[in-house]
Amino acid sequence: YRAKANPGTYRFFQPAMDRELKQTLRLQRDLHTAIANGAIVPFYQPFLRLSDNSLAGFEVLARWNHPIRGFISPDAFIPVAEEIGLIGQLTTAILRQACLDASKWPQNLKISVNLSPVQLKEVSLPDQIYRTLRTAGFPPQRLEIEITETGLVNDVTTARAILTNFRTAGIEVALDDFGTGYSSLQNLRSFPVTKLKIDKSFVRSMNTDPQSKSLVVGILAMSKSLGILTTAEGIEEAGEGVWLGSIGCDYGQGYCYAKPMRGEEVPAFLNSRAAAPAPDAGARQRA
Ligand code: C2E
Ligand code: MG
Ligand code: MG
Ligand code: MG
Repeated sequence: YRAKANPGTYRFFQPAMDRELKQTLRLQRDLHTAIANGAIVPFYQPFLRLSDNSLAGFEVLARWNHPIRGFISPDAFIPVAEEIGLIGQLTTAILRQACLDASKWPQNLKISVNLSPVQLKEVSLPDQIYRTLRTAGFPPQRLEIEITETGLVNDVTTARAILTNFRTAGIEVALDDFGTGYSSLQNLRSFPVTKLKIDKSFVRSMNTDPQSKSLVVGILAMSKSLGILTTAEGIEEAGEGVWLGSIGCDYGQGYCYAKPMRGEEVPAFLNSRAAAPAPDAGARQRA
């Protein structure tokens, strides 16, 4: 409208819009190729039991291994994949590679895969996942899935059916980024969620903001009484992990333990832990 009112600026707006549109179209086209060529790769970030700092598994985090731009963050391409209907293919590609990688690791280590909210509208989702697991010969009991609450509000019935299906197959269901967005305690009761991941923004502000700290304490107490496991994400200082463990948080994840790493780096990470076990943080034994 500004362009119309002031014709002088028209020529500036139009090329800018063209450029943006072209960029988006190029990104969409490149993403197609990237998925087909295996350029979307999994990175792995460990999560630990805070009771004894033992390794429990790895979260699978997508990266785009781009010939020019290097490793691109998922925030830049997951929304595009969702928009153009490629998220199912992307998830399958990531999961397939993660199963192949994790097959070479100790059997007690789990992998935890992020699903997009849009995928919880698709009743065929569990079968797609099981097919990939079967092809890779990977036991469902070693898989966890992470969803956000956005995925629960759209189509409640379908979302519940999908999650129940996963649970029946022995797959753990984690509610990611808990405490942000439309977090509702009701969701913990009405969906078959087995784990809750406290968003890193709480962990980050816990030391400086007494209210964040109170919320963390409250979330942990509530989860415990509901029989839901807890993970704190974004732990950057060892002391935070120790404190969270002492007030009953089950798992921890964050840069202080390790940043997300390439699959090729995991064996060395596992070896370094075996050679020098992390100090036992802990007091309590857990089931
Ligand atoms: P998320 O699932 O909540 O993953 C945690 C994010 O926090 C990751 O960012 C991780 O690298 C980062 N992180 C871990 N520890 C720390 C820490 O100590 N400090 C800080 N500041 N950050 C930490 P990343 O890898 O960039 O992923 C961003 C988001 O992209 C993920 O958030 C997830 O929602 C989404 N995503 C990643 N991979 C996939 C995928 O394969 N499928 C889907 N649908 N979404 C994905
Ligand atoms: Mg996650
Ligand atoms: Mg998260
Ligand atoms: Mg997130």
